[in-house]
Parts: sequence; structure tokens; C-alpha cells
Amino acid sequence: MPSWLPGSYLLREFARHVVAIRAHDAEREIPVEKVDKSRWCCRGAGGELTVTATVYALDESVRGAYLDRRRGFFNGACLLLLPEGRENEPAVLDLVAPEDAACAAWRVATALPVADVDARGFGRYRAADYDELIDHPVEISDHASVDFEAGGVPHRFVVAGRFDSDLERVAGDLTLLCEAQVELFGRPPPFASYTFLGLAVGAGHGGLEHRASSSLIFNRDDLPKPGEAGVPKDYQGFLALASHEYFHSWHVKRTKPAAFIPYRLDRRNHTRLLWLFEGVTSYYQDLMLVRAGLIGVKDYLRRLGESLTRVYRTPGRFRQSIAEASFDAWDGLYKPDANSPNARVSYYSKGALTALGLDLTLRSLPGRGAVTLDDVVRALWQRYGLRDIGVAEDGFESLVEDVAGAGPGDFLAQAVYGTGDLPLGDLLGRFGLTLRWRAAAGPADAGGMAPPAESARLLVGLGARVRPSGDGLELVAVLDGGAAQRAGLNPADVLIAIDGLRVGENTLAKRLERYEPGERVAAAAFRGDELLTFDLELAPAAEDTIYLEIDPAAGVDAHARRRAWLGE
Ligand code: ZN
Repeated sequence: MPSWLPGSYLLREFARHVVAIRAHDAEREIPVEKVDKSRWCCRGAGGELTVTATVYALDESVRGAYLDRRRGFFNGACLLLLPEGRENEPAVLDLVAPEDAACAAWRVATALPVADVDARGFGRYRAADYDELIDHPVEISDHASVDFEAGGVPHRFVVAGRFDSDLERVAGDLTLLCEAQVELFGRPPPFASYTFLGLAVGAGHGGLEHRASSSLIFNRDDLPKPGEAGVPKDYQGFLALASHEYFHSWHVKRTKPAAFIPYRLDRRNHTRLLWLFEGVTSYYQDLMLVRAGLIGVKDYLRRLGESLTRVYRTPGRFRQSIAEASFDAWDGLYKPDANSPNARVSYYSKGALTALGLDLTLRSLPGRGAVTLDDVVRALWQRYGLRDIGVAEDGFESLVEDVAGAGPGDFLAQAVYGTGDLPLGDLLGRFGLTLRWRAAAGPADAGGMAPPAESARLLVGLGARVRPSGDGLELVAVLDGGAAQRAGLNPADVLIAIDGLRVGENTLAKRLERYEPGERVAAAAFRGDELLTFDLELAPAAEDTIYLEIDPAAGVDAHARRRAWLGE
């Protein structure tokens, strides 16, 4: 069994969920011996061997396998054993309809090629090899679905779970989004059909890309209400998720690091290029919403301000490059801990800023106005993805030079291998945009917006991320150089009082408003069951929250460049 599944870079060791495994040939039961973490051996079988595995399935994430009375869902990597050495042989998958009356309305949704199925989709599917077999998640439930066409091929949006929305409207929006992406890469799209497998939940957000489908988990209320006009903020989040996973159909499912060809599913597959695949995809996920006409420039700039804020609130960006973060994804991004904000940078969010900076650099090169990141991404697709060639670890830099000349080389080297901040304020200025910094207005402030004029300005900060815990606030992360770290507070300490007065989720900001930078106060916190006091010197609130404004005084050229980039 695989230890991980492509797209999610963590050794999950799916074999640990195998609760029983038996084998027999035509004559008799054959003993099954487990020989390492994910392999079993059967000796002495004559002729055809049948292996039966029983798997515990209660992981409702996009990476798992799940079965209850409401639905079944699985990634093949979680359930399907591979006869070792036969990775390249064709496979069939038989899905047998459950007999339980509770499942009478269940139907199958998957992009796996059909061999012979009934009207509900139960029956036989086929795959050319094991890699294809496990790259088509399967939804089995009484789900809703809507069909649409984009790029000349059929698309389907499937939604399991409870929701209340107008799927025809969503299909119309997805059509625009998918068309815009096919337009970028060129017709026809590299799949015969495409399926978005959605799961509407109370609280959740995530996706996983596949070659002809994607799994999406989203809040049920992210979908627009029936009859609702416009594209509200939560729905933008849903569309950005769909946009991200769809973009991956080209960019990481087909254009991929050479280190992934073939995937070695029993171990970590290291590459320094995850930033190229996740960062560039994260940049385009939002840009495609603008190009498709689903959001306007104002909403785009708000979302960009939020991305900038995510990066600039992470001191770890000074310690780790996105090339290193990519390489260490397996034990880094996928295994976050209390020190992650100080030690690591996200190759998603800083990767997206790198893509932004590269695009803006290309778009403002003198005499090179016609070359943009679109040309680079398309060239990657045509030279690598379309021809099943993997991108070498240094392949991107040379491709950029081929397409755009040496101009962007310095920016790219600094952005990918360096740990300094990118010159984005200067670059955005060439597009008539001003990057502004301010302190956070509160714990829910994700940036992207100017501060509300009437809000009280918090002058001091703790330099820690907190969450409510019992009667106090647990320090989830203690940021490098902040007041909390200098006072000796640790992650997992539970702060209960400042200056002798209790603080909690709703009172911390109110208490801190009373102080000026440089004032010293006593802080009381539990470390385990010991109550400790700390001498806390309050520091100025970090200016780590970013928003963008159009600069009316910028030159005509700058506004023209912005219009060429984002439209009117
Ligand atoms: Zn992604």
C-alpha cells in the first residue's frame, strides 16, 4: 500500500488502517505475512491469488477513505493494494452496490474511466496502470450534481453533504472559470472530462488535485444562497479553491518535478520545486477569478493584501527560503508546530508572492511588455507537461531565461533561494498601486483592507499568537523578537492576567489599549499546573497587516500596466 498520495506530501502510512488481510488461491487459504510497514507477502499460492483487506475508513478529508450511512468516499491509495512490480499493468475496479436499504439512493461519482456500469454507476471501472487507478477519488452517496461544458469537454460539479444553493448558478460561474484556464493553457484541455467532487461541511476548507477531477471540502454556507446576486466573500473562497485545484490539472498533475517521475509511494520524494507548483497555482487561482470576470479589481486587491499579510506575519521567512521549504515539506509544512512561524515559510504564500513579483517584473521590463508569466507557464506546459517530461530542479530558471531573457534572473534567485523580503512595494508601484502597512485591528483581522477609521489603534502587542483555553489564553506561537519571547513566555503557556487583571479572548485587546510601548507590566501564566509571573515589557504593535490602494497620482504608464494585468 502507498505510504502517501500525490499532492499531499506527508507519509500517512495507509497500511496502518488495514485491520484484516487474508488470501486464498483456488484450493486453499494462503498465509499472509507482513514484511514491512506497507508490504505483505504470500508464499505458496498456485494460480490466481485473491487477497481480501478490511480497512478502517473514518477519514473524511480529501486525502482519506470514509464510510458511514450517509456516504462513502475513497482515494485508491487508502484502499487498493498493488501487486508489487505490476505498477504498469492495467487494473479494473469493481464497485458493488451495498444491499442496505439506507443506501438505495446511492450513486457513484468518479472520473475513473468506465468499463461497464449500471445506471447508478456501480460496476466495473478500468485504469491503464496503478498510478491512474489511485488518481481518481470515488464518491458514493445520494449527492447532488450539475453538468456543464468548458473548453469543449463535459464537466460535472458533485456536492455531497447538506447545502442550500442554486447549482445551475454555480455551474455557470465554474464554466467561466474553467474556460479562462483552458484559454491560458490552450485547447483542448488534457482530459476527456472533468469532475469537481465537492463535500459541503459545517467548517472546513481544503482540496486535492487529480488528473481529471479534484476533491473539494468547503463550508456549506460558502455556496451562494438561491437567488443571491454578486459574489460574496465566502463564495470567492470557494471559487478560489476550485480555481486552484483545476489549475493543477496542468500544473503539477502533468507539468511536474522530475523528482516525481515516477512517484515513489513508499518514501518521501524531495524536490525544491513545490513553490513553483503550489505558489504559481496560488497566484493564478485568484488571477483567474478576475480574468473570468467573477471578481473585480477591488476584491482581487483585498485577497492579495491578505496573502501579503500571511507572509509578513511569519518571522520564519527570514530563516528559510521557499526552495528549502519545498524540500522540507514532508516534515515542515505538513508537520507544523509551535515554532513553525519562527522557523519556516509557506511555499504556498511566499511562492504566490514570488509568482506575483516575477509576473510584475516581466510586465514592467523595458521593451519586453509582451512577455508575462502566462508565457512562462504556457512554455512549461508545452515543453514539459504536454511531453511527459519532468522539470529538473534548476529547469525553471533556464526556462524563464529562454522565454524572457536574463532580466528576471536576479529577482528569481533572490525570491527562491533568498530569505530577504521581496521588493513588492516598488514593483506594485509600477502598476499604480501603493502597498500600505498597519497594525492588526484584532485577532480576526486578516489584512487586505484599510483599517476602519473609528477603530481604536492598538499601540502595543504581545508578539504571540493566542487561542482561548479555559479561563485564559494559550500561547499557540511565541514570535521571534516579540514581547512575550523576551519576557520568557513559552508556547503552550496559558496567560491568565496582565497587571493583576484577568485577560481572555474578549478582554486582551481592551487591556492592552491602556498601555504605551515600553511600559512594563506583570503577566501571570500557567505552565502546566505551575503559576508563573513574567516581567513583560510591552513592545510597539507590529505593523504586519497589509492592504493595497490604487494611487491616483501614479503616471499614465503605471495605470495602463495595471489595466493590462488586471483589467479595468
Ligand atoms: Zn495546490
